[in-house]
Parts: sequence; structure tokens; C-alpha cells
Amino acid sequence: IELERLGIHESVEAVFPPAELADDLAALPAEISVVDDDGIPSCDAIVTLEHREAFLEVDWVHSIQAGVDRFPFDEFETNDVILTNSTGIHDRTVGETVAGYLLMFARRLHDHVANQQERRWERPDWDAAFTLSDSTACVVGTGTLGRGVAETLGGLGLGVRGVRRSDEPVPGFDEIYTTDRLLEAIADAEFVIVTVPLTDATRHLFDAAAFDAMRDDAYFVNVARGSVVDEPALIDALEADTLAGAALDVFETEPLPEDSPLWGLDEVIISPHCAAYTRDYVRDVGDLVLENVDRLADGGEFHNRVV
Ligand code: NDP
Repeated sequence: IELERLGIHESVEAVFPPAELADDLAALPAEISVVDDDGIPSCDAIVTLEHREAFLEVDWVHSIQAGVDRFPFDEFETNDVILTNSTGIHDRTVGETVAGYLLMFARRLHDHVANQQERRWERPDWDAAFTLSDSTACVVGTGTLGRGVAETLGGLGLGVRGVRRSDEPVPGFDEIYTTDRLLEAIADAEFVIVTVPLTDATRHLFDAAAFDAMRDDAYFVNVARGSVVDEPALIDALEADTLAGAALDVFETEPLPEDSPLWGLDEVIISPHCAAYTRDYVRDVGDLVLENVDRLADGGEFHNRVV
């Protein structure tokens, strides 16, 4: 790859201003510019949020997200386009977001915020609030996100169990189950948190059987991808009170449609796919790009290469 022109696709705007990343990469020995769809073919490499057909004409595409399920791997392969992702940077951000959801449920903070909108002084029922210490969280997916979640929750005194395909231990997890034992792993956890990539194997991993297997007083958290969950099955479980509640950052359709029943359910916290947001996001992505430009110059293997 001759890196003469690196384009920052305007779609990154949903996460940070493209010009900020251009500034961050200004020292590179290449022309850096913010491009719209028409500008893509003149670039050797692209940093992007969304996918575009025209990416098949460049040499290297870097996704500013860890999840790359929206990119057509086969077509990248056929057209000799390298795809890299941004895994490795979302441990603290997502870990703290998940800790926040759990603290809201346990300490009833979301009720206070809702009551405040109505200028209402109303204390929780005597048996509604609890503490997180000594409860168990089952984290499904033990990569960057899962580890960040495990470390943050471990610090709050929860016991943390992990689920992954292999049974190799992972730092921060008290025990590891393999995916074929998912239903067993989630059965007695007060909190079940999903942090797996969306793949053919994980699509609708959380279906009616999984929600049935969970405790009736358990909370479900999805910070992975919407389609890892059978959303109608989740809504059924919440409406039937066979789950205590859910915190959801990702959905089968985004933005979440205004008529989704999820908006109106008690004990459901909705955030607009921003669990990993931080003002440092642009610098974290910049560091990943710089690292790969260095490796390219040295003729080494790309870091975080997916295709
Ligand atoms: P990693 O690649 O670091 O981790 C993925 C983990 O999932 C690995 O531990 C892998 O372990 C496990 N895994 C993969 N397939 C399965 C399976 N079938 N069953 C159980 N475990 C599985 O990715 P990240 O942690 O960086 O990101 C994970 C996903 O989270 C992303 O793909 C993205 O979709 C989502 N995400 C969401 C964000 C948000 O804003 N809400 C922000 C960042 C990421 P093993 O190989 O042992 O199976």
C-alpha cells in the first residue's frame, strides 16, 4: 500500500468532529482530508463509521467502531481491501456505563430522576433498593468490553462470571463458562451483560429460552449489538415480569422507533448507542491509525486486522 491520501469519511461525525481527527493525524506524511462519498475513490485509506460500496476501491479501511458486522467481509477479501477495527479502546468507557446502569437499578437513581421531572418527593418502597456487593454478574463476551465491565463491577464488589467460546481463564473473571453452557451460566445471576460481537453464531443468542433461564428478578444489559437479542422475546419477558428490567444501548433498529414498546416499559433504561462515548474517543482512534501507519511503513502486520 502506498499511503498518499488518507480520507476521514464524514460519517464519523456521529461520534466526533472529523476535523478533530484530521488535526490529530496532521503529522502523518500523507494528505489527510475529510471526505464525502464522492471523495472516497481518490483515497488510499479511509477512516469511517459507516460502510460505503466505494470502499472496495481503496486499499485500507479503518472502522472507528469495534463492531464491524456492517462491513461485507467477503467483498473486502475479493477486492484485496484490508479492514481494521477499533477494538481495545472501549474497556473503561463501557465498563463505567454498565456500572452506571447497575447502580441506577440497585440504588433506584432512575426513579429519582423521573420523579424530579414531576417535582415529586417520593421515596422508594422499603424493599426496592439494594447494594451491588455480593450479587453476581454474568458477562457474555470476555474481550475488551467484557474485561472492562468485569474490572469495573469487580471493583464494586460483584462476583463476575464470564462466557466465551474457549474455557481459557480471563483476568477479572472469577470463573469462565463456554458458550454451550450459556443457559447454566446465566441461570442464577442477578445481572446478565452482553458484550459479544454480532456474528452468525451470536445472532439472537438471547432468545425466549435464554430469558426463561434467567431469574425473574434479574436485570439484562445489552451493550453489544441489537441483533444479538430477539427483541420481541425480550419485550415479552419484560411485560410478563419474568425479568426485573433491562438497560439497552443497542437495538435491532436504530434509532429505536418511536413506537417501540421498550420506551414505555418500567425498569427499562434506554441509551442511544453511546455506551463507549468519551471526549477521548478521537485520540484513541487516532492512536490506532498512527500505530498501523507505522506498521505499514515497517512492513509489519496490521494491528486489529479483521480482513
Ligand atoms: P473483542 O473482539 O475484544 O471481544 C469479543 C469477545 O467475544 C471475545 O472475548 C470472544 O471470546 C467473545 N465471543 C465471540 N464469539 C462468541 C460466541 N459465539 N459466544 C461467546 N463469546 C464469543 O471485541 P470488543 O470487546 O472490543 O467488542 C465486542 C462487541 O461489542 C463489538 O463487536 C461491538 O459489536 C460491541 N461494541 C459496542 C459498543 C457500544 O457503543 N455499545 C462499543 C464497542 C463495542 P472467544 O474468542 O473466547 O469466544
